[in-house]
Amino acid sequence: MWRGVIEEYRAHLPVTVRTPVVTLLEGGTPLITARFAAPGRRQVWLKCEAGNPTGSFKDRGMTVAVSKAVEAGARGVICASTGNTAASASAYAARAGIPCAVIIPAGGVALGKLVQGAAHAAVIIPVEAGFDAALDLARKAAERFKLALVNSVNPHRLAGQKTAAFEICDVLGRAPEAVAIPVGNAGNITAYWKGFTEYHAARRIAARPRLIGVQAEGASPLVQGRPVEDPQTIASAIRIGRPASWEGAVRAIEESGGEFLSVTDEEILAAQTLLGREGIFVEPASAASVAGVLKLEREGRAPTEVVCILTGHGLKDPAVIENRMRLPAPVKPTLEAIGPRLTFQ
Ligand SMILES: *Cc1c(COP(=O)(O)O)cnc(C)c1O
Repeated sequence: MWRGVIEEYRAHLPVTVRTPVVTLLEGGTPLITARFAAPGRRQVWLKCEAGNPTGSFKDRGMTVAVSKAVEAGARGVICASTGNTAASASAYAARAGIPCAVIIPAGGVALGKLVQGAAHAAVIIPVEAGFDAALDLARKAAERFKLALVNSVNPHRLAGQKTAAFEICDVLGRAPEAVAIPVGNAGNITAYWKGFTEYHAARRIAARPRLIGVQAEGASPLVQGRPVEDPQTIASAIRIGRPASWEGAVRAIEESGGEFLSVTDEEILAAQTLLGREGIFVEPASAASVAGVLKLEREGRAPTEVVCILTGHGLKDPAVIENRMRLPAPVKPTLEAIGPRLTFQ
């Protein structure tokens, strides 16, 4: 049985026998072959991080961050969040039996993520600000009120998140040519590079992949090379103008010989639809990695082998689909009435 990322990768993580392991058995997520890739010409795998306990990759980091917070005797945890960090922090804090506070941009968090925080009884504090200001506030509040800050500026978060890179190599038996990752606060791409670099140093893989960091056009500070004041995109999980892990992300791209690129909201939604048509429902931010690869394909320079990281589940942001969904009027419950709808034309 899969034992969660701390037990599976203990030797690579900042834990000791004295660390109380707070886990919901995260990690071990599926690596699925994409059907949309041109057969025989291109291999695309999808790393489905929706398979984590709260439906996003944040759980990989949170198991380590909350375990270390409990070890250090923290009286509670706090984070700023566009939603998934809040969902994950509240679940792992609940598991540990300690309180959790989340500071969110008012109106900036998708419904599914908000209700997760409520289900786990987190103290939810909406503020009249975007994510970047919310994170500044969370840092100060953590210090003032003696709480453990569990945003990705916490190094234990990145340590846990690098396990996704290990899993990809363990499943493939090597590193892929390229990995495409949606980038918001830039912690995850930094963590992936750490993971591949560690496996390379330990001679578990012969070469490291090229990293492709994908941002939404309206929230693309790393593509533009400067902070974005009022970031805008339908992909709320990556609606961030001042990434906290800026340097780590730039280093990952430079050292791997990769690149940052941006995709429009239309391209993100088209990629989300494409994945839905092959049985995989992701939230808009997650679809950015696929949108990025499709953009490279149109430009004739897509890698022949790439893993797209699908960061979170589509159910987290139902409104994106609901807004475009049209249910027909109800009909009589008879075969005659439903028959015309079953010709699939
Ligand atoms: C957090 C998150 C991201 C962005 O990850 P960063 O580490 O902030 O770059 C992307 N997609 C989803 C679904 C997320 O929850």
